[in-house]
Amino acid sequence: MHFSLFVIPFTAGMIILTVLLAFQYIKWLSNLETGNLTKIGLNIFTVKTMYAVREVFMESLLHRKVFNNNRMLGYMHISLAFGWFMLIVIGKLETFFYTGKFANEFYYPVFFRFFELTPHKSGMLLIFNAAMDFTLLVVLSGILVAILRRFRPAITGMKKNTKHSTGDRLALTALWLIFPLRLLAESATAGYAANGSFMTQPLGDFLAFFLPVQTLSIVFWWMYSISLGAFMVSIPFSRYMHIPTEILLIFLRNWGLKTNEKFTGFSEIEIQSCSRCGICIDTCQMNSQGNNCTSQMVYFLRDYRYDQLRPDLTDNCLLCGRCTVACPVGIDLTQQRILQRKKNTFEQPEGFKYLPANQSVAKAEVVYFAGCMSHLSPTISRSMEKIFKAAKVNYLFLDKNESVCCGRPLKLSGQFEAAKKLVENNRQRIIASGAKTLVTSCPICYKSFKEDYHLNIEVLHHSEYLPTLILQKRISVVPSGKKVVFHDPCELGRGSGIYIQPRILLKHFNNLIPITQEKENSLCCGGSLGNLSMDPDERCAIQKATSEYLNSADAEIIATSCPMCKKSIAQFSDAPVKDIAELVAASLENTAESQKPSKHFKEQEMVEII
Ligand code: SF4
Ligand code: SF4
Repeated sequence: MHFSLFVIPFTAGMIILTVLLAFQYIKWLSNLETGNLTKIGLNIFTVKTMYAVREVFMESLLHRKVFNNNRMLGYMHISLAFGWFMLIVIGKLETFFYTGKFANEFYYPVFFRFFELTPHKSGMLLIFNAAMDFTLLVVLSGILVAILRRFRPAITGMKKNTKHSTGDRLALTALWLIFPLRLLAESATAGYAANGSFMTQPLGDFLAFFLPVQTLSIVFWWMYSISLGAFMVSIPFSRYMHIPTEILLIFLRNWGLKTNEKFTGFSEIEIQSCSRCGICIDTCQMNSQGNNCTSQMVYFLRDYRYDQLRPDLTDNCLLCGRCTVACPVGIDLTQQRILQRKKNTFEQPEGFKYLPANQSVAKAEVVYFAGCMSHLSPTISRSMEKIFKAAKVNYLFLDKNESVCCGRPLKLSGQFEAAKKLVENNRQRIIASGAKTLVTSCPICYKSFKEDYHLNIEVLHHSEYLPTLILQKRISVVPSGKKVVFHDPCELGRGSGIYIQPRILLKHFNNLIPITQEKENSLCCGGSLGNLSMDPDERCAIQKATSEYLNSADAEIIATSCPMCKKSIAQFSDAPVKDIAELVAASLENTAESQKPSKHFKEQEMVEII
């Protein structure tokens, strides 16, 4: 048996970590909803588990998304995570070749150079020896970047580092020490046993010139073992808890779990998976344009973890979804923020006595719901009415007079029960109309209708509906040839995945010019209803910056498909800002040629036909 007293700190650290992780995993999994446990049971022995293994390899070890987002930051993560993983794998193979046994003491590969002092002679072991030195060198380069980044964040292209708790500092110090100490321990051992390779052997020979390397090596092996043990023990109390948690998250997500309207064990797992890479800080316009660098998701999640989450931090967010798209861990950051708001909210569901009691409405082929924000920008709903009439659509303008909000703004503020009152009221009226299609002009309403109304009919935003009318030849538009840029509204694009249809429509009769910050990377207009506490100057700064960015494309028209975006951008725009419904209504050529039966065209069909 291979043993030395210095293996005790490492062994103890591993045992403590295993017990704490097992306890934590059981706690989280026992807080999952029954439906989620069923999903795990149904999917665990399917190909989805293989997809999860692949994702763990690509994201937790190779950090593909971080690398694509930021090369230097990505290199740092890859060299540390994948490098350490390879040290474990190569170390295990090396001991297998050396002893001919796969089952050795679990610490044996970690301290292999101490236990096996005979210089390697065979070809394979020489290769392993060199591979271990090379991998250690890669990990050390990652440590160097991490240290430099802590003092100069700009080295990884970041403006700011995240602040550390005591647990973080302890874990970070241990992590920074582990690999330099391993280098010193292996080199000092090579200095008297000649069992090193291209890096450890020359360093060992150099140390042996003027130091008692045999005695010194024991000191270094002790320090190496202590730093390993300290890191293991500090993992559950530090940001590094994200390492084991992210792996669990990837498996659960592949088995179909996601954060929904209840805060469950899965929500907790998502929160603990944040690696504090800081990518969400620079992505956030409240930071880059509004000078607020304390409300981003990394701080929100950190304060939640340490039980220090303040309501103002929960509220101060546009819910634009830019950070959710950028987050390499794939945490549903927007929903996490909404769930915390729900916890802080005092619900008043009985306060909606004004809701119209009479649910009888006229029958129609299509129900049109403009949305509250469209009422503040009435040219949009007027344009839609003009288009409906031109297309000879039998429509009902549901919220023209007795307008009841769709409920989503209440939901964004965390008032789920109150929102349900409004949803149910509108839902009954939509069903009573007998319509087969619901069209809305507001992306906020659209998301609500899609997710909360459970309507058994087609639900379309007008940017999906209008190209369909053109394809059905129910309307036609005169080509304008004008240079147009399109601004993707947050709730329509990142929130609902509608990117192609408005572009197809605009290209049909305009000269649509591409911009860098579009589709998933689109800027927020700053007018979001999602922020409950934003400083007005900060909001203006974001609105102005977004407007200036869109104007810099030198287009004749800035097009969008959200009444809120239109208002926000128009305040600071030189170019006219138009909703796509207004552009279509202004370009209508003639009335309907035919009355073909309503058919909803899928994205690909639209691309092929128009
Ligand atoms: S929330 Fe995502 S992007 Fe932000 S620090 Fe955490 S892991 Fe990185
Ligand atoms: S949702 Fe938007 S405003 Fe809120 S933290 Fe993320 S990027 Fe910033």
